[in-house]
Amino acid sequence: MSDRNHISHCGLYIHIPLCRSKCVYCDFYSVASMSKKDMLLECMREEIISRSRHWKGKEIATIYIGGGTPSLLDGNDVEALLHTVREYMTVSPTAEITIEANPDDVSFHKTRQWIDAGINRVSIGVQSFCDDTLSLIGRRHTGEKAREAIGVLRDSGIDNISLDIIYGIPTRSDDVLLDDIRYAVSSGVKHISAYALTREEGTIMDKMIKRGTFPPLEEEMMERQYHIVCNELEKEGFVHYEISNFAKNGYRSRHNSAYWKRVPYIGVGPAAHSFYGSSRRWNVSSVASYIKGIKENTVYWEEEELVDRDVHNEIVMTSLRCVEGIDLGEIRDRFGEKYAERIKMLSVRYIEGGLLTEDNDRIKLTRNGVFLSDGIEADFFLTEDDK
Ligand code: SF4
Repeated sequence: MSDRNHISHCGLYIHIPLCRSKCVYCDFYSVASMSKKDMLLECMREEIISRSRHWKGKEIATIYIGGGTPSLLDGNDVEALLHTVREYMTVSPTAEITIEANPDDVSFHKTRQWIDAGINRVSIGVQSFCDDTLSLIGRRHTGEKAREAIGVLRDSGIDNISLDIIYGIPTRSDDVLLDDIRYAVSSGVKHISAYALTREEGTIMDKMIKRGTFPPLEEEMMERQYHIVCNELEKEGFVHYEISNFAKNGYRSRHNSAYWKRVPYIGVGPAAHSFYGSSRRWNVSSVASYIKGIKENTVYWEEEELVDRDVHNEIVMTSLRCVEGIDLGEIRDRFGEKYAERIKMLSVRYIEGGLLTEDNDRIKLTRNGVFLSDGIEADFFLTEDDK
């Protein structure tokens, strides 16, 4: 790809599509089986080596090991993957290296192995500290285990801990949510990702709601709890820097921030996406097909070139997600004055409705706007009819 030649630094995403069991709301690609683990990891190391040939001279500024549940892997497996990365790619000495962890998998021994492998940030999927809530959404850990895991990470010397919380879970009262957030804050974590529980088609939860065995999600509760999360975290000094992300000063996710700024990244593993600036690639969402593709040296991914319209829409979408908003100067420079004016014109009714603000040549979501961001973004998108 010619555009790779202009890239000086990039991110690396490593997708481990393995889970112990499937959470009821989850629609990520992952399999609840470890039977192909060793073969999968061998193939992923082969993919790292083969992809590295196209990325010579580029420095990896951030690495994110996500999933699935990468903490299910032995510490040695994680070490071996990162060893291969360092052997074949140039990793910045100050790289942010994150692993996602399930509280059940965190131990002093494993955390030590992660630190020895170079991991300096752990994103822990807590979701709630309330056992009834955890069991309703099919998480395998308990509140006690989540509290213990944060302590283990902290006591092992991981300073940069991120914690995931889900709000809008039926049957969890506002007070219990508030207790969850207050505990998270008091535990000293520096970053919190707060997601609304969403009903994705085909998930276990979707089928359960249809059968009447899972309480329906309530939009009103979702919105109320979104404000509870924002109020509490902002009061505690967390900056709401992206739709679902809150961080203390200096602790924004560098990997995800680069993604929202459209810095190129390489994605390794089944279902992993890559972005090269003017094209995207995604690997097959099947462990078996991925392994077959690597072993038989056949194509196991798809690629698409981005046309100007795609680039415009991606800039709108990713910029609007972030606290800095859409930089109209960037739109002007890349696409022309007419496109910046178009966004300004479309913004007027949202500004009047209190969902957007215009500030310093930037269009930003207000807190109310964040909650309705999908519809606003879509309104700004260029379609095939736009010239
Ligand atoms: S652990 Fe994460 S990836 Fe695995 S099923 Fe649960 S939500 Fe999905």
